[in-house]
Amino acid sequence: MQTQILERMESEVRTYSRSFPIVFTKAQGARLTAENGREYIDFLAGAGTLNYGHNHPKLQEALVEYITSNGIVHGLDMWTAAKRDYLETLEEVIFKPRGLDYKVHLPGPTGTNAVEAAIRLARVAKGRHNIVTFTNGFHGVTMGALATTGNRKFREATGGIPTQGASFMPFDGYLGEDTDTLDYFEKLLGDKSGGLDVPAGVIVETVQGEGGINPAGLDWLKRLESICRAHDILLIVDDIQAGCGRTGKFFSFEHADIVPDIVTNSKSLSAYGLPFAHVLMRPELDKWKPGQYNGTFRGFNMAFVTAAAALRHFWSDDRFERDVQRKGRIVEERFARIAASLTEMGHPASERGRGLMRGIDVRDGDIADKITSKAFENGLIIETAGQDGQVVKCLCPLVISDEDLLEGLDILERSAREAFA
Ligand SMILES: *Cc1c(COP(=O)(O)O)cnc(C)c1O
Repeated sequence: MQTQILERMESEVRTYSRSFPIVFTKAQGARLTAENGREYIDFLAGAGTLNYGHNHPKLQEALVEYITSNGIVHGLDMWTAAKRDYLETLEEVIFKPRGLDYKVHLPGPTGTNAVEAAIRLARVAKGRHNIVTFTNGFHGVTMGALATTGNRKFREATGGIPTQGASFMPFDGYLGEDTDTLDYFEKLLGDKSGGLDVPAGVIVETVQGEGGINPAGLDWLKRLESICRAHDILLIVDDIQAGCGRTGKFFSFEHADIVPDIVTNSKSLSAYGLPFAHVLMRPELDKWKPGQYNGTFRGFNMAFVTAAAALRHFWSDDRFERDVQRKGRIVEERFARIAASLTEMGHPASERGRGLMRGIDVRDGDIADKITSKAFENGLIIETAGQDGQVVKCLCPLVISDEDLLEGLDILERSAREAFA
């Protein structure tokens, strides 16, 4: 495979091509094909962007139909039939059955853009600058969002400009199993001398993705919601990675039975790997003045088409979510077994997650790398997460067939053994 031009011309900032230094040409479902014809099972799936797999035929059909009929591709934020259909479908298929009432802000198409818009809206709506965020949180890398992202690797890449406007609190479990970290947050809010500027909003991932597949307890999330309500603070759930069915419900916060004031979605929102993001807000929070937060690519019409088709195809009843939960249990069981055998081999490990967002924490980034490199040799694309890359994570497409899922898990189990043979 010819890779010289890629190595020579692409910036050193590249990441995933370092773990998987081959050239890919095609993909279907949960499988990627490299230029030399070798097939790989994809447990990375665009870091949670391909919940419905690569090139899902139903979505592809809708997209091809739209393109060949000269549907509008770009129209700034003008009204299009595709946008109308997306909003109608979102309301009918997702909001109504869940009793949700949100207005939709369509910012630029990346996750970090949605987070920027969400935290700025919270500030504008509340007239306060501070945003509370949590240890190990990842919310994107543009300046505003970066301030709410924990990882030093990203925070140090500003050329010394300090990030501003966020305060970090310990995430659930950060101080050990026996400490409810919200005691600290609540105490600070009630303490005039605690040093915490009363925040406009709190931003949280219900399951931290890049931070290491850390699920917040459902009671912890409920308590966070009630603390926010009691102190007139907006609750922002960043559902960019955990949303769109990843945890076994369309919104990850449904498990905790909470209703955020603001929600961000991106990654799998287009359902086809097309760039797309939206911010959902309680209607009374819509304090934006026309054009105050703009962008050239606000609402990508091709993404409206595939997103609406996916909502209709997968979310009109609860069959899909039950199937995701079933597959989640398969991964959970197998990950527990792999963790137990790693522990037996002298490498303490444990599994965790929610739905099909699962990880094996092997405590050490080098050990995790050994396993994922071996898996790649064996035909499985799988990555790591966490502050030291110490968590092997499964973000396989939710639509993966049982055969591919089991084959991928077999490869991972064998690779974990071989890595230390
Ligand atoms: C990926 C991610 C983002 C950032 O999205 P980009 O499209 O990479 O800017 C923000 N929040 C969470 C939870 C993410 O997983």
